[in-house]
Amino acid sequence: MKSVSVLGSTGSIGQSALEVVEAFPEAFQVVALAAGRSVEKLASQIVKHRPELVSVSEAEDVRKLKALLPAGLSVRIAAGTSGLDEVASFEESDIVVGGLVGALGLRSAYAAVRAGKRLALANKETLVVAGALILEAARESGAEILPVDSEHSAIHQALRCGRPHEVERLVLTASGGPFRQRDLSTFDTISVADALAHPTWKMGPKITIDSATMMNKGLEIIEAHFLFGLPSDAIDVVIHPQSIIHSFVEFVDGSLVAQLARNDMKFPILYAMTYPDRLPNAFGRLDLVAARTLEFFGVDPARYPAVGLARAALSQGGGMPAIINAANEVAVEAFLAGKIFFPDIVAVVSETASAVGAVPAARTLEEAEGIDQNGRVRAREIIQRVARAAVAH
Ligand code: MG
Repeated sequence: MKSVSVLGSTGSIGQSALEVVEAFPEAFQVVALAAGRSVEKLASQIVKHRPELVSVSEAEDVRKLKALLPAGLSVRIAAGTSGLDEVASFEESDIVVGGLVGALGLRSAYAAVRAGKRLALANKETLVVAGALILEAARESGAEILPVDSEHSAIHQALRCGRPHEVERLVLTASGGPFRQRDLSTFDTISVADALAHPTWKMGPKITIDSATMMNKGLEIIEAHFLFGLPSDAIDVVIHPQSIIHSFVEFVDGSLVAQLARNDMKFPILYAMTYPDRLPNAFGRLDLVAARTLEFFGVDPARYPAVGLARAALSQGGGMPAIINAANEVAVEAFLAGKIFFPDIVAVVSETASAVGAVPAARTLEEAEGIDQNGRVRAREIIQRVARAAVAH
């Protein structure tokens, strides 16, 4: 029986992780949960899973949460970043599922890694912002990092077919998002609802927008670099609109090994929680005959400038991946709030990268957070200008 803590338990990944736990009551038990402000959802998770410890982001929500729990139910409730740290490093847990969105997940992932946990990491921004720092902490503590990102889970699985020196390249698949065939001249008129309508995956809003710009794939190249230790030019991307092949590894002899499964995050979550074992899952099977067609296309840099931008940031190295990640988060928020146009998202990221210039790599968590903050401030300045232009448009 493994004990599990879930960071971001009321979000999309967190809820899927709890469904995995529920499906295997003899294999997993929940010991701690961290959530933001969805206290009602958290209360029902507490009643169902009976964790020993939970945390909420705001201290004022502690009383609200207590009032929602049945009398006699015992659970310790912490709050704020220290509460999140406590959940992430909770002594009783073997596995920490890192499902927090954006750079917010960095601090808690770092705490989990330092505490020597198995980290089932869905938050790719953690590695983008502070990959070297996280890997070094994992080496020191003996923590394992298992990717929950579907592409990286696929690569992790395919890599088991060969030895490290036999790997030629990784091939990440991308759906291409909802605008793969849209006329480029109409990108200014893309609405928030258009961009949130992902063709093949059901995910949270931030990552759905990132899929539409394909910044998600750019960040995944950086994530793959840190997870698997390969340079940018050995990590390719191919558009595969059906999202059935989750990624490939090509070996030196020309063999491509792929992993296929239904489009459901419960698959990579289960793999990360059970590796090196596999459990017979109850989440359905891929029907190859029903799938019928698997297509592949190259990545058009004019349609998806985010991919090249992320590669450039990885090549530049240091804190640049953290800068583009921060700028992207701010730009996506501005787009969702209706302040900028869709093409402005990547333009803001690009301008922020140029404005910041060279940045040394973070050696501490505080430095990583500082670089992230710097990226956000610069991106907001640029958005102010772009947003005024949008109003005048
Ligand atoms: Mg992915």
